[in-house]
Amino acid sequence: MQYRNGQRLPLDGLTVRLSVNPRARRLSIRIDGRAGEAVLVAPSERRLADAVAFARTRTDWMRERLAERPAGHPLAPGATVSLLGRPTRLLAGGGAGAARLSEDPGGPIIVSGGEGAAYARRVENLFRRVARETLQARTDHHLRALGQDAGRGAVKMSIADPKSRWGSCSPHNRTIRYSWRVIMAPPAVVDYLAAHEVAHLVHADHSPAYWSVVQRLVGDHLPFRKWLRDHGPALHAVGR
Ligand SMILES: [Zn+2]
Repeated sequence: MQYRNGQRLPLDGLTVRLSVNPRARRLSIRIDGRAGEAVLVAPSERRLADAVAFARTRTDWMRERLAERPAGHPLAPGATVSLLGRPTRLLAGGGAGAARLSEDPGGPIIVSGGEGAAYARRVENLFRRVARETLQARTDHHLRALGQDAGRGAVKMSIADPKSRWGSCSPHNRTIRYSWRVIMAPPAVVDYLAAHEVAHLVHADHSPAYWSVVQRLVGDHLPFRKWLRDHGPALHAVGR
């Protein structure tokens, strides 16, 4: 069987993703908690078959590591969810009204109508609204900082819920897409994500020239990237 870079395949009840990294010096397995899958890394497509054979001997280890992913964190009354890095209490409002954010002496609260899935949907919609407003403002800010057109429609921005990414940018169409989930992160991390995607309008790749543009926009980006790596699985568990 011919294996390809990016291919997903079932392996003893698990899902594994094949990844070719020419800089990898050996076969390895890493756990992608956000996507809920193990990633088999090989230095070349030719070595992917060896990586699969190696992974077959490590299925127990992969299963254990995947089980350590954070448990689901429902959007339900009584739960606390982070919004722009601030713990925000979710409360039931009765009726069927939309979720509303307000400031309580004890911190921010969200009161929403609806029950069960309807309640969760209303709260998620509120998070998406805050994400849209905040990310639009930060996107425009970074566009202006780079001397790019930040007028209406200059860059098409959308909010989505991708399984394992925080954002993506298509320089050709000047479209940027963000995960609404990043709005749970501290403002500096949200700002970094906007800078990351806007910088892709200048360089589509992750070359040193690209990272120097990001550096110009937000300074040292390593702490923000580490924050997303460390907290990504928890943010992706919210509402699931
Ligand atoms: Zn990127």
